[in-house]
Amino acid sequence: MPMTVSHALTDSLVDAQGIDLHMHSTASDGALSPAELVALCHQRGLTHIALTDHDTMAGVEAAEAAASSLGLQVMPATELSCQWRGVNIHVVGLLPEGAQGDLVEGLRRQSEARRARAQEIARRLEGVGLSNALERAQQQAGGERPLGRPDFARALVDAGLVPDMASAFKKHLGAGKRGDVKMHWPYLSEVVEWIRSASGVAVLAHPLRYGLTRRKRGQLLDDFLAAGGEAAELVNGFQNPDVTRDLARQLDARAMLGSLGSDFHFSGGPIAPGTMSPLPRTALAPVWSHPTLSQYAGAGARRT
Ligand code: AMP
Ligand code: MN
Ligand code: MN
Ligand code: MN
Repeated sequence: MPMTVSHALTDSLVDAQGIDLHMHSTASDGALSPAELVALCHQRGLTHIALTDHDTMAGVEAAEAAASSLGLQVMPATELSCQWRGVNIHVVGLLPEGAQGDLVEGLRRQSEARRARAQEIARRLEGVGLSNALERAQQQAGGERPLGRPDFARALVDAGLVPDMASAFKKHLGAGKRGDVKMHWPYLSEVVEWIRSASGVAVLAHPLRYGLTRRKRGQLLDDFLAAGGEAAELVNGFQNPDVTRDLARQLDARAMLGSLGSDFHFSGGPIAPGTMSPLPRTALAPVWSHPTLSQYAGAGARRT
């Protein structure tokens, strides 16, 4: 057994190792329980992780409990759904103090919004032939957890209406399709405010996954900064290296902090905890250099 020594976090993004600040568990649309996820992260040599379940922190306590005996550091976090100019945007909150201030009510509203949205998605999918859509999705979720679009995608596959998950999103649930219901989500600035109210750091998740032009992405970054956001994911899972370098320039020009993560949901695919494209050489400071996260950055540094 390795000694329970936390490793120092480097002050450069490109040298970052053993860090994954974007992952999902069964508290949202992930396949592993928080404890199973933490065990897998440990097995894979990770030292610092953030559990970023969609619109909930319900898995954080269990992840922390599992991590404490393994010498792994878990940053409490969540990935909040919101909208910006009609686009469904995700904002990761890194929340060392947990849910505090306006975030408490914010998370309650997100769970309500998710419930209302699921009903609307179900109504729309019944229109394309998925009877009892809500019950079917809940069955796919395998429990009472809040429903997400992947649960509806599985229900469509299970009912034989589409051949696979990718087709389910392409035909019915992806951006602009009838099952892409955004109206229940708060505006970008609101969720950033909740995170700040909880003394957390707001990180724009996967800026390359919204189908935006470079110019529009720049506007998103500007609005995110104006709202009080401070960081963005430079790498999320696999990305094109040229586009990643370009994103690094956009973040650098705005003096934003950089974050990184696998966006792991389940085993058996190309992504595992800690799996992501290589970081480009960049002068961007890592998000863990933020004073608010010093308890993580400093934990190992004192021991080396
Ligand atoms: P929701 O949080 O309910 O809006 O669902 C969004 C989630 O659906 C994302 O976090 C992914 O886990 C998943 N997802 C999005 N696009 C796809 C896709 N094309 N294929 C499979 N899963 C997807
Ligand atoms: Mn997801
Ligand atoms: Mn996301
Ligand atoms: Mn995610």
